[in-house]
Amino acid sequence: MFRYWILHFLFALTAYAQEPYVVVLGTAQDGGYPQAGCNKACCQAVWEKKLAFESVSCIALVDPSTGQRWIFDATPDFKIQLEALKHTTNNESNDLSGIFLTHAHIGHYTGLMDLGREVMGAKSVPVFVMPRMKEYLEKNGPWSQLVSIENVKLQPIQENGFVQLNSRLQVRAFRVPHRDEFSETVGYEIKSQGKRLVFIPDIDKWQKWSESLEGLVQSADYALLDGTFYKDGEINRPMSEVPHPFVTETMSLLDTLPISQKSKVHFIHLNHTNPLLQPTSEESRLIQKKGFQVARSLQIFRL
Ligand SMILES: [Zn+2]
Ligand SMILES: [Zn+2]
Ligand SMILES: [Zn+2]
Repeated sequence: MFRYWILHFLFALTAYAQEPYVVVLGTAQDGGYPQAGCNKACCQAVWEKKLAFESVSCIALVDPSTGQRWIFDATPDFKIQLEALKHTTNNESNDLSGIFLTHAHIGHYTGLMDLGREVMGAKSVPVFVMPRMKEYLEKNGPWSQLVSIENVKLQPIQENGFVQLNSRLQVRAFRVPHRDEFSETVGYEIKSQGKRLVFIPDIDKWQKWSESLEGLVQSADYALLDGTFYKDGEINRPMSEVPHPFVTETMSLLDTLPISQKSKVHFIHLNHTNPLLQPTSEESRLIQKKGFQVARSLQIFRL
């Protein structure tokens, strides 16, 4: 009998290890952490190596049963994130099954440059793109060269259409309001057979969106949401130029939800000025007390 239970346990453990998951590969805003030119207290401690460096916001979807790995956004920290992904998945291959891009702001696509002739010389990496993003990459150098010499193979996607990745994983892009100078901006829904994760690294104020934030959180198992700025007044320029929802605003919009719902929210895409970058800051403790969470690099979400 005992042997039966041991076998049963080992079987369950193996099955669990084969389940798909999302792993966080970075949580900082486009400029990373520390940020170029910043010698204020927020970054000085990182320059002096007293606080840890943090990569730009990026997640990877992993299916251990097939060995497939997709990343969401190609950031300026791509090389660090590819290594982290290889290490965490125990798979030393450089192969990616695909890259999904959210939009054409520098923190979200410029990592594609590492796939080009000057660096990896990658072969036909599938890059999933919305129509304007596709045109932008096709028509502007240096990206156009990645397309013409087939380092990447652009895979057009449409708003709200599901992309079937394999028999148990699907991805859907949905439009969100943002400064769309060069491309549309999308968030992604990642769906397994049982669970749903939403990833919105960049969005303007929630009020500009036609969807309900509360509904989004309630319908997902995990919500990785734009937490660029903790609160108003955080940077020395008009914050209306960069109208992200403040973490304080997102929390008050979700205030009436029970803790079980709030705890699905993980803030990501944190500006170098955001105290949530430090797990021990007063603000990190406060939001945890309210039931919310901050995404941390190498954190895993089981799907
Ligand atoms: Zn961004
Ligand atoms: Zn700084
Ligand atoms: Zn952006």
